[in-house]
Amino acid sequence: MSRTSLQPLPSLILVFLIGLVACESRPPRDQSSGAQRLIVATTMTVLADLIGQVGGDKIQVKALVPPGGEVHTYQPTPEDIKNVAQAKIVFYNGAHLEEWIDETIRSAGKQDLQIVVLSQGLPVLSADGGEPNPHLWLDVANAKAYVEKIRDSLGKVDTANAAHYADRAKTYMAQLDELDKWILAEVEAIPKARRKLVTLHDAFPYFARRYGFTLHGVLVASPGKEPSARELTQLARRIKRAEVPAVFAEAQFNPKAMEVLARDTGVKVVTNLYNDSLSTGPEANSFMALMKHNVSQIVNALK
Ligand SMILES: [Zn+2]
Repeated sequence: MSRTSLQPLPSLILVFLIGLVACESRPPRDQSSGAQRLIVATTMTVLADLIGQVGGDKIQVKALVPPGGEVHTYQPTPEDIKNVAQAKIVFYNGAHLEEWIDETIRSAGKQDLQIVVLSQGLPVLSADGGEPNPHLWLDVANAKAYVEKIRDSLGKVDTANAAHYADRAKTYMAQLDELDKWILAEVEAIPKARRKLVTLHDAFPYFARRYGFTLHGVLVASPGKEPSARELTQLARRIKRAEVPAVFAEAQFNPKAMEVLARDTGVKVVTNLYNDSLSTGPEANSFMALMKHNVSQIVNALK
């Protein structure tokens, strides 16, 4: 039996390792001015991208949930508490998306931490059980409202760079306007009667409302739950009755049940939509890429 891992490290290596850790935890610096970058923490990679678009090289943003991770049922780690404690400002979505974040912020115990809830003040749609549906950002108009809030909040904690944040937000919002127009034009390729969505979890009501789709059911009532046999039968019946051309699963979930449902109903299945997380690969590694990817997948499957 090997005991290598139990043997004490030579003190020289230990000193070297401590040195490395010390270097790593030093706040990053802005390349141009040498000033310290503003440390920002957020929950989702999608929000980290929006924040990064506004902050540019004046900030360093950390998403607690890794790409491909599941935000609804996420279990925060001690590392997350450390990341929040190091941050000057924390952005999260709210509307019951990240039920775990309050505890993480409390555990970080930082008195002067600025906390910004991006969905706050925006009209929220209700999910089935009357709970708010948190997926506002999949409507580009809401994403723009998030960007405005990010711009104002960064400018308030880091007044020296407020003009920088305002400039970048303006440029990015113009790009979001283009994206919004592009989506509306792309959707035109789908015949009106076929603009129907069935997805794995209930992430698309804001998207559907803005871009003219009707929702015909979801596989799981809330993430982390498995559909019962009865729910599956009912959904299959709805798919057939409404002549839904395809069903969609989101990349952060196991698509197995959705694939079975598609086979039983004889409809197409697409298993790589992104909504609550950016992709680890290039297909949806920014909010802009995510929206374009989803729309292309949806248009191809339904047109
Ligand atoms: Zn979700």
